[in-house]
Amino acid sequence: MDHAPRRIRTSIIRQSTYLSLNEIATILTSPIEYLKGVGPLRADLLKKELEIFTFGDLLDHFPNRHIDKTKVSRIREITPQTEYAQVAGTLISYETVGAGRGKRLVAQLRDASGILELTWFQGISWVVKGLHVGSDYLVFGKTGFFNGKPQIVHPEIEPYVAAKAGGKAFLEPVYPTTEKLKARSFNGRQLGKLTYTLITLLQPKDLPENIPQEILDRLQLMSRFEAYRNIHFPGSPALADAAMKRLKFEELFIAQVRLNLVRLQRHHTSKGVVFEKVGDYFNTLYANYLPFDLTGAQKRVLREIRTDTGKGHQMNRLLQGDVGSGKTIVALLSMLLAADNGYQSCLMAPTEILAQQHYTGLSELLKEMPVEIALLTGSTRAAERKRILKGLLDDAIHFVVGTHAVIEDAVQFRNLGLVIVDEQHRFGVAQRAKLWEKAAVPPHVLVMTATPIPRTLAMTAYGDLDYSIMDELPPGRQPVTTVHRNETARANVMDFVRSEIDKGRQAYFIYPLIEESEKLSYEDLMQGYEQVKSFFPEPKFHISMVHGRQPAEQKETNMQRFVKGDTQIMVSTTVIEVGVNVPNATVMVIESAEKFGLSQLHQLRGRVGRGSEKSFCILLTGSSASKEARERIKTMCATNDGFKIAEKDLEIRGPGDIEGTRQSGALNFKIASIVNDKELLELARAEAEKLVEEDVELTMAKNLQLKKFLQSQKRKHGWGKIS
Ligand code: ADP
Ligand code: MG
Repeated sequence: MDHAPRRIRTSIIRQSTYLSLNEIATILTSPIEYLKGVGPLRADLLKKELEIFTFGDLLDHFPNRHIDKTKVSRIREITPQTEYAQVAGTLISYETVGAGRGKRLVAQLRDASGILELTWFQGISWVVKGLHVGSDYLVFGKTGFFNGKPQIVHPEIEPYVAAKAGGKAFLEPVYPTTEKLKARSFNGRQLGKLTYTLITLLQPKDLPENIPQEILDRLQLMSRFEAYRNIHFPGSPALADAAMKRLKFEELFIAQVRLNLVRLQRHHTSKGVVFEKVGDYFNTLYANYLPFDLTGAQKRVLREIRTDTGKGHQMNRLLQGDVGSGKTIVALLSMLLAADNGYQSCLMAPTEILAQQHYTGLSELLKEMPVEIALLTGSTRAAERKRILKGLLDDAIHFVVGTHAVIEDAVQFRNLGLVIVDEQHRFGVAQRAKLWEKAAVPPHVLVMTATPIPRTLAMTAYGDLDYSIMDELPPGRQPVTTVHRNETARANVMDFVRSEIDKGRQAYFIYPLIEESEKLSYEDLMQGYEQVKSFFPEPKFHISMVHGRQPAEQKETNMQRFVKGDTQIMVSTTVIEVGVNVPNATVMVIESAEKFGLSQLHQLRGRVGRGSEKSFCILLTGSSASKEARERIKTMCATNDGFKIAEKDLEIRGPGDIEGTRQSGALNFKIASIVNDKELLELARAEAEKLVEEDVELTMAKNLQLKKFLQSQKRKHGWGKIS
């Protein structure tokens, strides 16, 4: 025992050569092989199997649960409902049976009440060495039944010493481990012993507090040191829970402090162009050419943008508005505000169709005004492209609408002041950053997304952005009625679609895009097209078809025919998913609806219900939809609220899969979950916001320890954003 600290000290000296100069080595950075009881062999296993390299890693390897192991069960008490059991008994036999991959070691343990079978599939020769028929053993593990008899596979086993069990009440941690470790007799219990050794070495100074005391007091959270002790070796179940709560809060709080620092430091220190006045461009459109009154939500968001862009700091704002809430007009008015102050704007859309549509829509609204607007996409012809590049450089063009083509290096602006990214989830952070580089002072950035994100997810994935919500649809909209129909009812569905078309309305038929098999999707679509055509023959009916294999021009022509009403039906894959606006379309039939994700279905449905007529969405499925698919369809039929759908999506899929957030490191929580710990996250957000607002440089005495902690993390994880 005496020895261990000395060995640790040597290790610190050795270790320090690997660390950057200003990193402080602590006991927690000591290599794991220096912990008493580890040694090179086990160290190797710990590293390979559990990625435990240092004392700190071991400390961060939390138990799944705790079990009162002072309780020794009788074998007869084990039922199929029993999860884990600890049993003491005499080993009456063991033998190796089977061969090759089926080879296993089977032993029988008997107590006064019955017989328990113990089985090992791995590490047999190792285990056998420790087994002696006639000796007493204490075994622990997950119970199961095999041929009606209770058994434990790969139990923890040790010689039974009567005094050992039945000691003082003791909640023993159960650690996540691996089959390989278990097979090497290096099981959860051994891990517990090592952790116990480590805990006894630690003092409060080794785990300095990183949350300001006043917050701990207010929320009644235990200290960091206490939390680490109790998450491993709690004095009671209540203490185990309290430790977990404290550590989850810490994880969420630290992340929120980081995000809010980025957000608020930008408010304080970033440079930004100033849009100081509302001028003629804005006022003329507003007074003369706006075909409707703005909704309250649109006005509120415009005020927020006005405030942000008037301060001399860069705006970085996320605008979440449900499908059809009218984000485009907010974008246009913001661009006019930029123009009023002598700045150019750029509006980026994820697809050519969408860029084209924005361009057409905005040009229409601007046609009586002296505003130059250009469309720049991958299929813009060379001469036009040349004209645009020149126009952007000499300031003849006010607005450019485009796709990824806009972020190419060749595209340079005279004085770019505002970048708007529509349907943001298709643009990566890096792509957005590229736009910033196009001006000496970074332009303001407005990110618009029509895929609502649950609040908790937005707070974590986009917590460094300011955040606006448009939670109001323009007046006069009727909610879309959504129904689920089996394919067998297709004839009825077609009759219904025909009745809508007879009323002068238009319809969509959507086919899934199977990413792994473009060919299959294409064949599906063609078959579908033929089928639709047989129900809706020419000359009475006209059909547009749009899909990914068409050249942009053809897509555009087909799209425009539908937009103008020359065709009554649009057959398409999901290329129309975002943005398309045909208010006269009142029916959408989604084929193989079980193959779509929830947010995708919601996006698609958003293409109908955009006018004043009642609209319908029909989800067609075969009979083999999975449970999850059925749940998605049920949700779609139950609600039109994008935020509710987003919550459900998060519940079904978990945060890792939500579009656009996959690469977001902000979501890599170790123990906290944005699905299950919502309240704690709200608390953490509120506390972090308050703290950063009060002390954005973290120079107040009460926040110094936090600052130090963040800096050490920054070095460890390379979070360059924190100053
Ligand atoms: P999204 O938020 O999905 O991008 P759009 O900007 O495409 O929505 O707007 C959807 C439709 O609503 C468009 O036809 C648009 O002209 C219309 N619209 C937008 N704002 C209003 C409003 N305040 N009143 C009435 N119609 C509006
Ligand atoms: Mg839109």
